[in-house]
Amino acid sequence: MKRVFNFSAGPSMLPLEVLEKAGVEIMDADDTGQSVMEMSHRSKDYKPIIERTESLLRELMDIPMNYRVLFLQGGASLQFAMVPLNLAGVEQGVPRKKADYVDTGIWADKAIKEAEKYIDVDVVASSRNKGYVYIPDAPPPQKNVAFYHITLNNTIIGTKWSKLPETESSPLVADASSCILSEPLDVSRFGVIYAGAQKNLGPAGTTVVIIREDLIGNVPSWVPTMLRYDVHVKDGSMYNTPPCYGIYIIGLVLEWVKEQGGVEVMAQRNREKATLFYDYLDNSKVFLSPIEKPFRSLMNIPFLMGVPFVYHSSDEKSSLEKRFVQEAATEGLVNLAGHRLVGGMRASIYNAMPIEGVKALIGFMERFEKNIRN
Ligand SMILES: *Cc1c(COP(=O)(O)O)cnc(C)c1O
Repeated sequence: MKRVFNFSAGPSMLPLEVLEKAGVEIMDADDTGQSVMEMSHRSKDYKPIIERTESLLRELMDIPMNYRVLFLQGGASLQFAMVPLNLAGVEQGVPRKKADYVDTGIWADKAIKEAEKYIDVDVVASSRNKGYVYIPDAPPPQKNVAFYHITLNNTIIGTKWSKLPETESSPLVADASSCILSEPLDVSRFGVIYAGAQKNLGPAGTTVVIIREDLIGNVPSWVPTMLRYDVHVKDGSMYNTPPCYGIYIIGLVLEWVKEQGGVEVMAQRNREKATLFYDYLDNSKVFLSPIEKPFRSLMNIPFLMGVPFVYHSSDEKSSLEKRFVQEAATEGLVNLAGHRLVGGMRASIYNAMPIEGVKALIGFMERFEKNIRN
């Protein structure tokens, strides 16, 4: 067996221990004589699986009792619609209130564009003017807004909020798809936290939603059943068939996080990995990080080739970047191309990426540098 270091932004690496356990249980989980994939979601065999996944998430994230946890489908992208549809209240059949959004990148912008279909959105701050390389100062919420939306970690551009905005009584809603469980988070500061699983939690197909109870239920009647938080809460994420196998794998990932020492240990390791890589980039004569220092993501690290004497035209630069990505792949360092909308390179180093992967990447980059400068 040959495993690569996978730097994909998502779906991304899973801990080897998780894959091994899933492999052992693939045909007979817990002496049931079945794979988890074959179980009825309403069976006595499956019930403990979803319950354990939820209770591990509650324990690891220290989720207060007045929050509900949902395992849904549709990805973070569906939450871009569900959040405004469920949180804006209702008056004469339509969502009532406005919401504040902070625009910190491509995902934030998608969330804004989707919300605008249903409610009035005010973009109260944006870092678009400088290509999103920083997190803007967040103003306090405007009067009487239904919620205040941020993208906690900006997967494509590589920034993160290090200090949460003060939103007073307006519920803070966060897209935490690419940073959930990477560092401790004070859940009580939020109204809703949502995350697609395929970055830091498990396989694609499951979306975790953590929602404060008082925000559930005031929804226009025409909102499709599957898009209502109250329906999913009432049925314990089993209004219809949930993504059973994905929830099971998330449970194994959470068990792994717990065995490693919990979210604080993840955060220490993530800081160590990211510091190593940023220090390398900041001292490199060829590669650089375009992101302003206070806002650099621990999870997604885009980098560029920034030295003009290395190349003379943008064609030459992009061919050098292609060569970089290809040569890295031959050494088992895969998926290092930047997002198709921004180009360059990007190393995503989620919880499951061991520090050895980061060291191997730096080693490769040092050799690549020497090579092209000779
Ligand atoms: C990946 C990602 C999304 C999109 O997630 P899907 O599950 O593919 O819909 C949204 N927001 C952020 C921050 C992401 O990283």
